[in-house]
Amino acid sequence: MKYNFGAGPCILPQEVFKQASEAVLNFNGTGLSILEISHRAPEFEAVMDESVHLVKELLNVPSGYSVLFLQGGASLQFSMVPANLLAEGQTAAYLDTGAWASKAMKEAKLFGNVQVVASSKESNYTYIPKDYEIPADAAYFHCTSNNTIFGTELFSFPKTPVPMVSDMSSDIFSREINVEDFGLIYAGAQKNLGPAGVVLVLVKDELLGKSGRKLPSMLDYKIHADNKSLYNTPPVFSIYTAMLNLRWLKAKGGVGQMEKENTAKAAALYEEIDRNPIFKGTCQPEDRSRMNVCFVTENPEHEKPFLKLAEERGMIGIKGHRSVGGFRASIYNALPITSVYSLVEVMQEFAQKNA
Ligand code: PMP
Repeated sequence: MKYNFGAGPCILPQEVFKQASEAVLNFNGTGLSILEISHRAPEFEAVMDESVHLVKELLNVPSGYSVLFLQGGASLQFSMVPANLLAEGQTAAYLDTGAWASKAMKEAKLFGNVQVVASSKESNYTYIPKDYEIPADAAYFHCTSNNTIFGTELFSFPKTPVPMVSDMSSDIFSREINVEDFGLIYAGAQKNLGPAGVVLVLVKDELLGKSGRKLPSMLDYKIHADNKSLYNTPPVFSIYTAMLNLRWLKAKGGVGQMEKENTAKAAALYEEIDRNPIFKGTCQPEDRSRMNVCFVTENPEHEKPFLKLAEERGMIGIKGHRSVGGFRASIYNALPITSVYSLVEVMQEFAQKNA
């Protein structure tokens, strides 16, 4: 038995793997593989339509937003956001909560001015800064809703006088959000949406085509929106598998139900981290992520033997990112609570052996 706590690409529901693999051999009874049909075929158009529809339904997307399936990962969004929303000479406001936020800022600086409204860098990003002002003349405000590497999450978003842009790569579809509060949301697929290779963008139509820049077509949201994400060949298989995963999510009861389960999973794990004298959490309790649970051993000498025991018990992907060290258990939507209980048992077994 394997328990996959990997940070991404990560666990998806077994039934999604099964359905996706069936479609590789025979897609919807057509006698053709999903990998060989044209992206302009009506069968694939139906996949794209259903995917967009499921995103809108599950996230309650109001009218006036485009739902796009693009390529280049969340990392290309670090550039596409300023390319499309930051006009020459303008300033964009960024909240610096970790490595991904820093990378987003680095790219934005190629297009205009970046003002860091607050940063938790001095504490190695163990918390989410709360008191800051967003300048009213900024082109937009950018935040990372969940910090995959450092294990913090924004539980409330600021009221902003300017459009809010959020990188939701690692917590989209894990919690309820009010899309209306955002001008743009982007998310690399490979956590709670589907396989790597596609990135989801929700953008308010009124923000499109305003930067005054001449953009390469592939970097222009408006061109992708006008072409319903079919300007060029989209990542057909990633989108199809994401659609299957969204169907699964809907059948499970939707994002609200997922949030309840994710909250329970995270609570079970943090409870053990706080109770067990061998371990301690790395982040401020009120900002602890429900997706990526980061912890270390009180005694650094316990780190390697705990990792060894956990691996022997079938735990995959719990080694922490090198910039935090220790452990990171990613407990995305498809990870059942029983896997969290199994990890807790290993933590208890280790504590007994090392009391
Ligand atoms: N933002 C966040 C919050 C992430 O977790 C990641 C990747 N794990 C990225 C951006 C980069 O995504 P990609 O690899 O799809 O470019």
